[in-house]
Order: sequence, then structure tokens, then C-alpha cells
Amino acid sequence: MSEIAANLSRIREQIKIACQKCGRDPKTVRLVAVSKKKPGQVISEAYAAGQQIFGESYVQEFTQKVEALQLPLEWHFIGGLQGNKVKYLRGKTALIHSVDRYSLAREISSQWGKIDATAQILLQFNLGRETSKSGADETEALDLARKICALPHLQVRGLMTLPPYYDDPEEVRPYFRRLRQLGESLAAENLPNLQMQELSMGMSHDFSVAIEEGATLVRVGTAIFGARD
Ligand SMILES: *Cc1c(COP(=O)(O)O)cnc(C)c1O
Repeated sequence: MSEIAANLSRIREQIKIACQKCGRDPKTVRLVAVSKKKPGQVISEAYAAGQQIFGESYVQEFTQKVEALQLPLEWHFIGGLQGNKVKYLRGKTALIHSVDRYSLAREISSQWGKIDATAQILLQFNLGRETSKSGADETEALDLARKICALPHLQVRGLMTLPPYYDDPEEVRPYFRRLRQLGESLAAENLPNLQMQELSMGMSHDFSVAIEEGATLVRVGTAIFGARD
């Protein structure tokens, strides 16, 4: 078994264990393999080991890999996104995790409208209010969701967060919990085009805790593909 295949099987096992611990069905948690800064070769390897969903963070790298690989993968875009680059993603992503402002959502809606399609997106929140990270402020969540949900070619599927880093995943737990609560409060508003089905949270070192707090998409890079330069 290749190292990547072994890592994937270990992580799938850890996902199962986390689910058992909190009484969830493991099928409700999907693994997004974060392949940013890694060559296409490792994506092929992970795909051969049964991995379906891949997450990328940089537009140019993403489009190059999509072109080069030509595999029936489910591509997620998880990185910070500039409005003028949205056109390169058009029609190529199953889910964009990183929508944190109205202008970006409007551009995505306009681009997907051109191909008569509906973009699936998540709203990203910066719960730790770190200046280094993208994400909307939770105090503007309802306002932002209302405006974004009024756009024609979008479907909001849930929320995403990239919380502050702590060595001890227990210290990240409150952020995961807050994202879930924020999701519940937005779901109660019954906005059009909003289906609060996904919570994208948890990375290599804290995905088990994220699952206990309700994550449906865990974004794991290093634990699958090794450290990035
Ligand atoms: C890089 C990245 C990840 C993966 O982080 P690891 O610690 O390598 O698992 C997850 N989410 C986002 C948004 C990222 O940019």
C-alpha cells in the first residue's frame, strides 16, 4: 500500500471512531483531501485509493490540475478568492467553501448565470477575528446571508470556518461549536436558496473534535499528503 493510501485508510478509521464517539453515522461526514501545493501525481494516487473529493486553494493551480488530470473528481475550492478570478472556476467546482462577502457572491452568481448553472457555496466566517484569515464577521452573518441568498444562481449549502490554531484541539472546540450554532440560527430564518446541510470545519490535527461538534466536511491536507513547503 502506498503511503497516501495508508494515510487515507487511517484517517477514514479515525473519522469512524469520532462518529462512534458521538453517535453519528460516518456517512454524514465527507473527507475533503486538501491537495494544494502538491503535484497532480498525489491526487491520482489518492484517487486510486478511493478518495473522491479534493480541495484546492489557489485558482491557477486549481485550473492547471483540473486540466491536466481529467479525472471524474469532485473539486472543492477552499481558498481566499478574488472576484476577478471567479471566471476561471466557473462550472468546475462542486462547492466553493470560501464565500465571505457579498461582492464575491454576486460575481459567482453572475459567472454561473452565464452557463445557466447554479453555484453551490458555503459562507466562510472568521470566528477568531484573525486579520491573517479571510471570512466574514459573525455579527454580520444574517445581513450577509439575506443579501447573498437573494442572488439568482447560487445555493448556500452551509458554513465554513478556519479557526485559530491551537496545538490542543480541545481549545478549538468552542469555535466549531459556534459555527454550528451560527448555522442553526441562520437556518431558522428560512431564507430562500439556503439549505443548512454542511459544516466545513476541522483539519489534520483537529478533525475528530470538529466531527464531534457536527462537521459534515473535514478538510485534511498534511495528514494525507505530508507537510507542504
Ligand atoms: C490548507 C488548508 C487546509 C488543510 O490543512 P492541514 O492542516 O494541512 O490539514 C484546510 N482548510 C483550508 C482552508 C486550508 O487552506
